[in-house]
Amino acid sequence: MSLKVGLSTVAGICLLGLAACSAPQEATNDSASDKFADVDTQRIIDASPAAEWLSYGGGYDEKRHSSLTQINRETVSTLGVAWTYDLATNRGVEATPIVVDRTMYVTSAWSHVYALDAATGAELWTYDPAVDKSVGVKACCDVVNRGVAVYEGKVFVGVIDGRLEALDAKTGAVVWSKVTVDQSKPYTITGAPRVVDGLVLIGNGGAELGVRGYLSAYNAETGDLVWRFYTVPNPEKQPDGAASDAAFQSVGNITWGDEGAWVTDGGGGTVWDSIVYDAPNQQIIFGVGNGSPWNQKVRDPAGGDNLFLSSIVAVDVKTGTYKWHFQTTPGDNWDYTATQSIILAELPLGENGANRRVVMQAPKNGFFYVLDAETGEFLSGTPFVPMNWAQGLDENGRPIEIADARYGEVPYLQLPGPVGAHNWQPMAFNPEEKLAYIPAHEIPQAYSFDPRWAIKPTKWNTGTDFSAEIPLDIPPGVMKFIRASHKGRLIAWDPISQAPRWIVEHKNAWNGGVLSTAGGLVFQGTMEGDFTAYNAANGDKIWSHALKSGAASGPGTYEIDGEQYVTITTGWGSLYSLVAGYDYDVKVSPTVGKVVTFKLGANGTIPAADFIPIDRSVKAERFGTDQQIQDGLVHFSRNCMVCHGPFAISSGVLPDLRWSDYSGNADAWQAVVHEGVLSDAGMIGFGDLLSVEEVEAIRAYVVAQAHNTLDQEAAASR
Ligand code: CA
Repeated sequence: MSLKVGLSTVAGICLLGLAACSAPQEATNDSASDKFADVDTQRIIDASPAAEWLSYGGGYDEKRHSSLTQINRETVSTLGVAWTYDLATNRGVEATPIVVDRTMYVTSAWSHVYALDAATGAELWTYDPAVDKSVGVKACCDVVNRGVAVYEGKVFVGVIDGRLEALDAKTGAVVWSKVTVDQSKPYTITGAPRVVDGLVLIGNGGAELGVRGYLSAYNAETGDLVWRFYTVPNPEKQPDGAASDAAFQSVGNITWGDEGAWVTDGGGGTVWDSIVYDAPNQQIIFGVGNGSPWNQKVRDPAGGDNLFLSSIVAVDVKTGTYKWHFQTTPGDNWDYTATQSIILAELPLGENGANRRVVMQAPKNGFFYVLDAETGEFLSGTPFVPMNWAQGLDENGRPIEIADARYGEVPYLQLPGPVGAHNWQPMAFNPEEKLAYIPAHEIPQAYSFDPRWAIKPTKWNTGTDFSAEIPLDIPPGVMKFIRASHKGRLIAWDPISQAPRWIVEHKNAWNGGVLSTAGGLVFQGTMEGDFTAYNAANGDKIWSHALKSGAASGPGTYEIDGEQYVTITTGWGSLYSLVAGYDYDVKVSPTVGKVVTFKLGANGTIPAADFIPIDRSVKAERFGTDQQIQDGLVHFSRNCMVCHGPFAISSGVLPDLRWSDYSGNADAWQAVVHEGVLSDAGMIGFGDLLSVEEVEAIRAYVVAQAHNTLDQEAAASR
């Protein structure tokens, strides 16, 4: 039995979504400030970390460490629910709320923005950018959004369709709106903008589908583009008239060959998450994503380092001019993004123990890096999870690769996989304990070359094979076996000794972002819905509360009228739930996405989600030959799995096709899957990629899976 590729977890996408607004609680309290987002760069520098949460990572250094101490190891036992707010979505929620001038600004799926009274949860305004839902298929990992930035009375949001918008912080009215990408290409924006000295910084995503990445700086007042730094050269390796031109002439161009899919497909390198402002060095430091396609043999057969893929890059804040880079994964071949949290801190790593300003990152490739912030010099790098793609790093921080990891048609079961040793869930750093808190994953993936690979514009297109050797009849227990190979843990990592100080093992792999506080606590959620406070020094579990929903986003904390609050956004969806949520007991519900806010002595309750029952009955008799069903499996795995789940088992976030009414009617199935009649709801047609016969083969497979599921369940209950 060969289940190698069946063990894969894969990275995911998707479709269909709901979002509306609701208004809970009483009206805003009358002592509320008449200021809204009255923030400039100096206020963010002066304030952080303190009573508010003024930027995505809690401050420009993005430590996610608050100096607030009212909620601490002694008092946390009385922490209870102060208020909740319904984000009205069943899709992934990844936002960290911004709190400023008593107002909370938070986002949800489809780039919706909400302004709430931060003390009561009362709704002040909501904003729906009215995204065409058919763009959902461009999103590798659900139609998520990680939050806004605020500056001088405006709220800035990156919209999933590639817009960057400035909203009036008091009213939510659109002040300006700019399209930051070529919308004919599969770009998306899921990350939070940052604002520095009047510049709004925003990147994008899309490297699973084929785009060329870059970071842009827009004028906060006018929305005019000020500078742009590309992370991959253009196919001619000629100047773009952009801030990155000199960097490609000096170090970038020679690391790319002249042929391969990168020439037509963009090459990847999207800047989809970490962007930090290093004020002392007047530079922006950002993380760059994976190559596109993943497989370097098809992306760039010449096999160079492919700068600036999978790199940490520093540029001048005013001009975007290149200053330094450090590439974590030369010649990326595995979706090893270096977009994960970047944290700036002072560590005693200078001469005679003097403090040195450093950059810390725990990217997907599994090494924890410490770099000099001013120069990018590699100081140290150590595996924080088990790995079998590299034996270690050389003196310059370059990975010493294990040859088999550059896979061919024979699958190589690898750790970490494309989900990473660490993904978007934010890491935190406690400067007193000098510990970084990493939400780490151990999720293997069998990588292999896809011999049928061909360019598929605007669709998933990694050059790796998600479908080879999957057996038609999945033996009972295999899904449990796969899941048992997925592990997750919270690691308190000492970046000076480069070793863990303590570790909390989680029940399931996908664990949430982290908040550190001077109260000696570390807060973290899990997808099972536990929200827990640990002792920052030793990892002892001190307090926990059930959220009745998944929680993967970064929690925050703030103080109003002398009371400290802790807040977290909840929901299912996002990458892991879509592709591997099948045993999280995720059910269909339009009301699982919420903001949940706690304070001491409160005893509110979190409303239970409204679940929609699923009719788990087969909608057609088995049909098709074994070959037809096997073909259907291959086409399903290549085109449908990243949204609707491996083996056609959905997490419930997006429709489970086994129980879909459309599966019972060949014409209706063709209308949806081939013609795209549900594209307004997010399910585009695949007629440009799949023939009528292939679409029907997928139906035969899905129907067979429905029968197989019920047969296996019946057998198990006997
Ligand atoms: Ca990726």
